[in-house]
Order: sequence, then structure tokens, then C-alpha cells
Amino acid sequence: MKVMIVMGTRPEVIKFAPIVRSLEQSKVTETIIVHTGQHYEYLMWRAFLEELNLSTPNYSLNIKDKSSIGRLSQMISNLEDIMNNETPDVVLVLGDTDSALAGAIVARRLLIPLAHIEAGLRSFNIRSPEELNRRIIAQCATIHFAPTNLARFFLIREGIPKDRIFVVGNTIVDILAHMLPEIASKIKPQRDMILTTIHRPENVDIEENLVYITNVLLLLARRYRVVFPIHPRTRERLKKKHLMEVLSQNPNILITEPKRYSEFLKLLCNSALIITDSGGVQEEAVTLRKRVLILRPTTPRWEVVLTEMAYLVNLNIELILSLVDKLLEGYKHEPNVSICKVVNHLFGDGYASERIVKILAELYRNGKLVYNSPDFSGKGRGIVEQFLRSYLGVVLDESSKDKGSIL
Ligand code: UDP
Repeated sequence: MKVMIVMGTRPEVIKFAPIVRSLEQSKVTETIIVHTGQHYEYLMWRAFLEELNLSTPNYSLNIKDKSSIGRLSQMISNLEDIMNNETPDVVLVLGDTDSALAGAIVARRLLIPLAHIEAGLRSFNIRSPEELNRRIIAQCATIHFAPTNLARFFLIREGIPKDRIFVVGNTIVDILAHMLPEIASKIKPQRDMILTTIHRPENVDIEENLVYITNVLLLLARRYRVVFPIHPRTRERLKKKHLMEVLSQNPNILITEPKRYSEFLKLLCNSALIITDSGGVQEEAVTLRKRVLILRPTTPRWEVVLTEMAYLVNLNIELILSLVDKLLEGYKHEPNVSICKVVNHLFGDGYASERIVKILAELYRNGKLVYNSPDFSGKGRGIVEQFLRSYLGVVLDESSKDKGSIL
């Protein structure tokens, strides 16, 4: 089976790493990796390839366009050539990035089976480009690898057939289980340390919000130490608005380049609290039993809120400051099982990648990795009605008045 992986950003490199390892171990697959260049700075992708022992991608696209729609269209046209050339048996995309969207659209249009990893997350934020990407990718995918039951329910609600959805866990737990033993002995928890990462366009591209976040960090720095590995987008925006100096001159704020993965995980383990707008960091923090304040009004990872490990605070300064004080007042570092062995966690048990590869191999062998379209030629009203009833099942069940009536 020839598997093509399309990736382009830091979290995709991290979350795909254990899948690549499982594919290599399975011996029944040939893997082609395409990197779209969505993240192109050394510390945002190559450093991760090296650290996670991934080989250089077979294709690295050189996408230059400055606008996100321009980049998307370049990715799509480059990927069309590559997929036509390689004719993979299945394409894998992960999450909700523009790279995943481009890979999904091209695979779908070329009728190459598409497997979506981290499928079914929904934030219900209609302004979010990631939410749009996720929903379009779901329409393109043949196979949906959902990380949790909640994600599966969202997909079923959107009409995705149940037999195309597999709850496998999130591969972030696999990579954490792989990395943590290495760093466990270097963990020295600091009860006054807050780790923050901020990069969402809605937070850093809007000047008012960027000023607001700067003020939050300055207020926090009066009482706590803030470590801030900075995303290139945020660095550029802060510099442009002359906010970088005020932050970097504060002795309690440590701004650093983006960290390598093991360095970042060490910071995460050492911190008493995480303040972030990142998706992956929410998953990692909660897996490592860390409290999180999410600088967003909603999250596609509702599980973290349901367990009360994370709080949606958006940019509400009073709420942020009061929660930080409350959570850090009686802070006790929880030496936890998850440091060395991550088992049966909210986001999986550390075997998601193995499951994904096993399921793909089985579906491929049984010829199920294809797009099946219904064929009603020669069928009468009974069969057509049966099909429509099963398709409309959810809707019919909900309408009490017209129950049973399609027409
Ligand atoms: N990360 C890292 N170094 C950093 C900041 C983040 O290795 O300096 C990792 C983090 O552990 C997580 C991933 O990058 O696995 C999250 O990436 P990001 O926040 O850029 O994207 P998102 O998850 O929001 O899509």
C-alpha cells in the first residue's frame, strides 16, 4: 500500500511522527511525505524532523505567496501534480490546517481515498478558518480517525456513515509517551512559572487584541514569571507595533525563540499554569495534568473544559487575572502517572498510530478504501425510500409532527 502524507505545520510534524514510525514498522506500506512549506522557518519544522527522527520529505513545496488564499491555491496546484505522478493508494491529512485542506481537496477530486486524522473536532466558531477547513475535509474524507467519542458523535450528526469512523485516540499521546521518559529526570517544577503561547490570527493580527494581550502579560509579570516561546507570526506583529521592547525589557517575562519539542515539553512540565491559544498545547497540558487558560471564546476540544482542567477565558482580563491567582494560590505540582506512562487518558492511550496503520492495512486488503457512490439504476420506489429514510434518519426521528413522512 502506498501512503502519501501531506503536512505543512509544526503540529502536523509532531502528530504525524508516531504515524510515520508505525508505517515504517508495518512493512506493508511505502510512505511518501509531502511538506507544503506552510511553516518554513528552521525552528518551526526542520528542527522537529531532526529531533523526531523523520527523514527529509520526498517533496518540499516552495510556496511563496503572501496571502493565505494564494498559498492555498499554490498548494492545491502543486499537490495535483504530485498525486497524479505518485498515484498513492491513500492520502493522509491531519487536523485543520490549510495544508490538510489542500491535500484533502486534491485527493478527493482525483478520487484517491483520503483518511482524515483528528477528525470530528468542532468549535462551532463560524469565523474560524480552521473550523471551515475541518468541515470541508470531513466532506472529502473516505475514512475518519476520530480522537474521542465526542468527535465521533459530531461526525455522525453531520451524516458521516458510522462504519467510516474509527475512534483511535490522538497521536499526541503517542508522541508524549515516547518523549516523556527522556525528559522525566530533568523536570523541576516551578510554582510561580506560567508558560504562554499565542499565535492565532484573531489574537495577534488585530492590533487592539495584541495590545490587550501585551497588557495581560505585563500585569501577570508583576506577580509571576512568564515564559513566552514566541511564534514567528506573533514576533513579527509585536515588532511591527513596537510592543516587543516593552515585553522583552520586563525582567519577569522571558521571550524565547520557538522551542524544540523536548525543550517545550520540559517547560510545560515545569510550569504551574499554561495560558495559550494553541490547540495542541491544550491537549498536551491536560494530558500532563496542567491547568490551562484558553485565550479563545470556544474550543474544538470540549473535553478539556468538561474535565475542568481548562477554562475558556478569551481576552477577558479580569477573568484571567482572578483565575490565575485562584489556581496558583494553592498550587501543588502533581507528580503524576502521565509523566512517564500515559495510560487511558482523555485523548487516548498512546496507541493511536498503531491502530491507524492497522485499520488502513485491513481496509486496503478488503478493498474498502474506495469512494462508493450509490447506484439506483433499475431500483424501484421501495429501495429509494429505504435509502432516503436511512439517510434522513436523524431528521425524521426529531420531527414529531411529520414523523415517517418524507414527501
Ligand atoms: N510547540 C513546540 N515549541 C514551541 C511551541 C509549541 O514544540 O515553542 C509544540 C507544542 O508542544 C504542540 C505544538 O507545537 O505540540 C502546537 O503547535 P501550535 O501551537 O503552533 O499549533 P496548534 O496546535 O494551535 O495548531
